Amino acid sequence: MGGPEIERLIGLLAKLPGMGPRSARRAALKMLQQPEARMLPLAAALADAARAVKPCSRCGNLDSLDPCSICTDPQRDHALICVVESVGDLWALERASVHRGLYHVLGGTLSALAGVGPEDLNIAPLLARIAEGGVTEVILALSATVDGATTAHWLTDRLRPLRVAVTRVGQGVPIGGALDVLDDGTLAAALRGRRPS
Ligand SMILES: [Zn+2]
Repeated sequence: MGGPEIERLIGLLAKLPGMGPRSARRAALKMLQQPEARMLPLAAALADAARAVKPCSRCGNLDSLDPCSICTDPQRDHALICVVESVGDLWALERASVHRGLYHVLGGTLSALAGVGPEDLNIAPLLARIAEGGVTEVILALSATVDGATTAHWLTDRLRPLRVAVTRVGQGVPIGGALDVLDDGTLAAALRGRRPS
């Protein structure tokens, strides 16, 4: 159907989250019908983002600046660090404007089953940040799953000797991974309802 270029485009689009072969075909067709208006700007945006955006060396956020624009924002509370599993969770919290401090992106949770240990996550840089001083509270906003709870316990044990308050977001909130689908009010309540870990 239409040659290898179209097949390749549809194949790549179909691998994106939320896309299947059907929606990939529709998106490809839409773009191919308006290459100047839709396709070339998208190609340029993809190339620019791939070149410019990198994980922040301090917090793990994705940004074209390093340290990222959150880490260097003087308006934010640098004594408060919210630990999240993914950049998607960070985006959800930012979109809801519920956290005025900094972040630390772990890149997942500890998992005995999946063979994920502390060295596989962005944990050593977190402990180093706290050890530098100036941080008074670490908020753990991790999944309400067994692995999320295990990770929270493990981190609490390591963070407490560094003389920093460790709190967890309100219980029962399906935070982490599913954080993206929560409305702003629920996110705000989760942050407000945090308790000592
Ligand atoms: Zn950062």
